[in-house]
Amino acid sequence: MNIPFLDLKRVSPSYLQELKEKHGDILAKADFVLGPEVEALEREIAEFCGVKYGIGVASGTDALILSLRATGIEHGDAVITTPFSFIATASSVVLAGGVPLFVDISEKTFNLCSIKLEELLRRKAKKKRDGWYVREMRIRAIIPVHLYGQCANMERIISIAKEFKLKVIEDTAQALGAECRFNGSVRRAGGMGLAGAISFYPTKNLGGLGDGGMVVTDSRRIAELIRSLRLHGMGRQKYIHRAIGYNSRLDALQAAGLRIKLRFLNQWNEERIALAERYKRLFKDKNLLEFITLPSLLEGNRHIYHQFVIRVKKNRDGLQKFLKENGIGTEVYYPLPLHLQPCFKYLGYRRGDFKEAEVASREVLALPIYPGLREEEQRYVVEKIAEYYNPPSRP
Ligand SMILES: *Cc1c(COP(=O)(O)O)cnc(C)c1O
Repeated sequence: MNIPFLDLKRVSPSYLQELKEKHGDILAKADFVLGPEVEALEREIAEFCGVKYGIGVASGTDALILSLRATGIEHGDAVITTPFSFIATASSVVLAGGVPLFVDISEKTFNLCSIKLEELLRRKAKKKRDGWYVREMRIRAIIPVHLYGQCANMERIISIAKEFKLKVIEDTAQALGAECRFNGSVRRAGGMGLAGAISFYPTKNLGGLGDGGMVVTDSRRIAELIRSLRLHGMGRQKYIHRAIGYNSRLDALQAAGLRIKLRFLNQWNEERIALAERYKRLFKDKNLLEFITLPSLLEGNRHIYHQFVIRVKKNRDGLQKFLKENGIGTEVYYPLPLHLQPCFKYLGYRRGDFKEAEVASREVLALPIYPGLREEEQRYVVEKIAEYYNPPSRP
């Protein structure tokens, strides 16, 4: 059997025809950048996340950069984030003029640990006239990442952020449609902080036909700032620029496709959840839990399994190689934590600084999970993992 890590072709048929017609209309109108399709998508995604405004931008990375800029970040301000994420989470901080300040993850969820966050702020932060400082840097914001499709502990993070007057930008690139309990109600990822940054990169749960992204926010002021920043910082008057901005717009062709796909997103997320539940049953049935650890859920969370990531206690790379030899694609997200990336050497972190992130980078393995993945394929994946470890079979 050959099971690719991700096969985007399996989702398509139900919407391909509609997409072709819609694209035909747009080609005929030749109205390519922003415009009514993008505005409609902005309304729909904002509503989906439970907030008032959506602002379409060129990528998830730009959604992060523009959100940070909209917080009023100044050169040298620190932004607290996780060392265990895709590079864009931290590089966006630098590109917006700031300095990443890492806090380790929680072992169970792989997300920014709210206890360690609180510890850092209570022990190290000093109050000055214009804010809270750590290591002579003013702390401006926190970027929690809802890694693999599960919300970080937003209740705690936002309550701590309020106490220390920090803005919260949610990295929602992997979690569109994820939910969590938040002060007594159920909320969607991206809709709890000051802003949420969404990616429409083709491999994400709502993927476009290329790069794209969106910022969602409940704040009219932030929405206006980002609308301006995506158009080179232009104000209401044409060609008068209030700030140095970016060329970061969303295309009509992208928006049209995303609007059609958005109608299927809940169904696809439900399918991912069902696939994850089946993997969990299969691993238990095969007595594999002493060799691997299944993803764990924070109470009240709706994990949408952008990735299904297991921890492999021993010889992760050996297992990955064995699976590859048997036609099974897997990935390691991420093999090197951000604080040890060559590009962040200047920040001065060392191996041992964030132990949970470092252990995770040695143990995680993402298995195939996507709409259209078949039961016999999942069975094959788990059987091959069982073959590798050869656990005692059940009596
Ligand atoms: C994909 C991703 C991004 C960046 O999104 P792009 O659209 O690729 O720029 C940022 N953060 C995380 C966690 C991601 O997975």
